[in-house]
Amino acid sequence: MSKKPGKRKRSQAGHSAKRRDRHAAQGDEGPRREKILRGRSNEGAVPEAPSRTELEGDVRRGQVVELQGREATIAPEGGGPDVTAILRKSTRVPHSGASALVVGDQVAYLAEGDPPFVLTEVEERRTTLTRTRLGREEQVIAANVDLCAIVASAAEPPFKPRLVDRFLISARAGGVEPALILNKADLVEPEVAAAMLAPYARLGVPALAVSAETGEQMEALRDLLRGKTSVFSGQSGVGKSTLLNRLDPELELRTGEVYGKVGKGRHTTTSSRLVAFPFGGSVIDTPGIRSFQLAEPTLDALDAFFPEVVAAAAECRFADCGHAGDAGCAVPGALERGDVDADRLDSYRTLRREIEGRG
Ligand code: GDP
Ligand code: ZN
Repeated sequence: MSKKPGKRKRSQAGHSAKRRDRHAAQGDEGPRREKILRGRSNEGAVPEAPSRTELEGDVRRGQVVELQGREATIAPEGGGPDVTAILRKSTRVPHSGASALVVGDQVAYLAEGDPPFVLTEVEERRTTLTRTRLGREEQVIAANVDLCAIVASAAEPPFKPRLVDRFLISARAGGVEPALILNKADLVEPEVAAAMLAPYARLGVPALAVSAETGEQMEALRDLLRGKTSVFSGQSGVGKSTLLNRLDPELELRTGEVYGKVGKGRHTTTSSRLVAFPFGGSVIDTPGIRSFQLAEPTLDALDAFFPEVVAAAAECRFADCGHAGDAGCAVPGALERGDVDADRLDSYRTLRREIEGRG
């Protein structure tokens, strides 16, 4: 699922308009600007991407980086500036449901005449991030996400393993690889941070203690994100925006609407956008993705992250036990022996009740 590095550059160039303006206004002629201008200088050049077939005309491919109604902004495969294309009735869409086109979708479009072009096809999605709201159809908010960076803080706000578990399970249920990023490591002793991460590392979840404040472990975080399309999720106040800006100081300019302080006269947007990191890889960000669950948690996903509880429960003599501690349940014994951690069991029970309550 690795992406061609060229793709990143393109979408970066596409988002550069506002950044250029800002730099111009500030008289800033930094190296980033030069890079961007070079990237843009081939605008109008003959595109290198060949047509798919003669019959279909000049069909090209790309990834949706932003969406306004039925009009998509697309980072073309193989480079060049972003283009726009419209979703039509004639567009082949392999999935049903309301969310025919979302940010992250791989598409094909007919590059004829002036943009906006016409979308010929939306490709099958590798992964989807969905949002469910009571009484409403499930809504896909982004497609083809490779990694869910679950951001938590070691302190201020305090570390909440239950919330982390919930995000983990919902990422897993959505088929997206999770990673735990424990931010604000500067506020606790290293051993404390290590103890918070340990249960997740044991489960095979990439887990990093970082600090957006001091820059600690930022290179390891870049390594984790490189070449992937990620989303950052987690509770408000844990430092997601600070982290993103630390990863890429230019990001604030590119995601100004999303991260801008409310009430400063900046336009606020609710739509998703895919933004390229300068080190390779990209992030899909919306205020919605950051706080909502990625997918409905499932029992399978729950069990995958609680193997020790599952093992203890296997000893239970009730076939349909909720392991809530009824007499005869094997789980309390495991708890006493220390095979199962009380907090994790608590988390398991809460999530299990929630999942079963839905079904
Ligand atoms: P978000 O709601 O998750 O996007 O969180 P913000 O990025 O807005 O950060 C919330 C607060 O935490 C801000 O006051 C940041 O300055 C602070 N913060 C972010 N990262 C760190 C960190 O690594 N260490 C410390 N001490 N504070 C941080
Ligand atoms: Zn039981």
